[in-house]
Amino acid sequence: MSDLILVIDEGTTSTRAMLFKPDGTCVAVQADDLTQHYPESGRVEHDPSEIWTKTLAVARAVIDKAGGADRIAAIGITNQRETLVFWDKETGEPLAPAIVWQDRRTAATCRAMKEAGHEPTVQAKTGLLLDPYFSGSKIGWAMENWPQLKEAGDRLAIGTIESWLIWKLTAGEGRAGEHVTDATNASRTALMAIGSGNWDDGLIELFGAPRKALPEIVDCAGRFGETTLFGAPIPICGIAGDQQAATIGQSCLQVGDTKATFGTGAFVLTQAGRIPPTSHNRLLSTIAWQIGGRRAYALEGSVFVAGSLIKWLRDSLGLFGNAAETEALARSVKDNGGTYLVPALSGLGAPWWEPDARGTISGLSFSTGKAHIVRAALEAMAHQAHDLKTAFAADGVDWNCVRIDGGMVANDWMAQDMADILNIEVERPEFAETTALGAAMLAGIGSGLFKDLDAASVMRGKVETFRPSMDEDLRQHRLSGWQRAVKSVVVAAS
Ligand code: ADP
Repeated sequence: MSDLILVIDEGTTSTRAMLFKPDGTCVAVQADDLTQHYPESGRVEHDPSEIWTKTLAVARAVIDKAGGADRIAAIGITNQRETLVFWDKETGEPLAPAIVWQDRRTAATCRAMKEAGHEPTVQAKTGLLLDPYFSGSKIGWAMENWPQLKEAGDRLAIGTIESWLIWKLTAGEGRAGEHVTDATNASRTALMAIGSGNWDDGLIELFGAPRKALPEIVDCAGRFGETTLFGAPIPICGIAGDQQAATIGQSCLQVGDTKATFGTGAFVLTQAGRIPPTSHNRLLSTIAWQIGGRRAYALEGSVFVAGSLIKWLRDSLGLFGNAAETEALARSVKDNGGTYLVPALSGLGAPWWEPDARGTISGLSFSTGKAHIVRAALEAMAHQAHDLKTAFAADGVDWNCVRIDGGMVANDWMAQDMADILNIEVERPEFAETTALGAAMLAGIGSGLFKDLDAASVMRGKVETFRPSMDEDLRQHRLSGWQRAVKSVVVAAS
């Protein structure tokens, strides 16, 4: 009996395969780490072959645990967004490294485009801003700097990670794969007009992208090809970028529902309904999902550095051996001792958008210990979220509750600090893997198990609530301390 949904969750630092029952229970997980390549300052690359072979291996491992491919009804895929892969349609082999969303190599290009007055058009069409984060400028850079891409001519395929994985899953002996991308991933390339859901010729020309190398844009739920790599054929039925998948997994189905994911970066999405919202406060407008050709939109605030800060404090500064130790360290001191850490290690995202900003630790004295620095690092998460809340409110979409998830929210101290600083209730689902859950819900719809997202919401489990309890004077003191710190970082960069 095929009664399980296989989810492939290809994140920035790891790739995972999970099996879900239709009631939302996760019955198997297998994960493997991905190698991060930093060839130069500001550049971040992945190896597409490593992504594929590790994804295939973790998928095989959970299918074996289930007892074979016959048990799997459908595959759902969710992925790190904006990261680009370039491959050869004939050989199915990568032609270059994958350029990762964190990569800042096109900062100067984006600045020049902004100075030339292109940002209003880009924002009106795509809901995005001119920042290296989005794929468009990276495609232009790759076409100019990697001659093998031009040489490949019509054999060149370009796609974000889900597109690469679907190609590899559906390709066979002498048979090309399916070259598709879903509307949520396409909405992050800066090449798609989000109002129409189609590639936009003007944007394609502006960024210098080769039109023929781009995938076909499809829904998030449906039938997108079959894989025969695991024995019995399995259909691919759900696709969404990781943040959109988490929005679905947190059941943010009503206008105003908000989720915040704290993984490598932090991403807040608020459900905005059927009409693309326009931000006047440097937030992004993006596609939340597209099902049956109908799109729902979200307002998004993207913060580049969240869990990666904890990883950096652990690996580069050696302040602790394990991310979970940060909770006890934060609790071991009564406050931050005047220390503020602005984690602009790869520029500042929303609402500041300063690609050249760099991080600071300020307020140091001889009484500052490592616990203060760690506490300031965790506090920076609530402060970054608060800056976003202010921007969302100014755009007319204030939050009255936020649903949190991602690897960092295992930290109870951080979850409580978030409720205190935001001064609203913070909900944390008991099952934290909401990204994978969202992909499972989409695959459940695509395979006909559920009729729509409301029906698929049965997969969502119980939540735990953190309530604000901080003294208001203390809260204001923290907010003004952070404002001073972040403004000095922004001023230094501009
Ligand atoms: P991604 O999906 O972006 O790869 P995850 O959602 O798996 O990331 O989150 C992993 C991040 O969370 C890591 O960067 C790690 O440093 C951080 N992290 C994990 N556990 C904790 C914890 N208890 N406290 C603070 N940060 C944590």
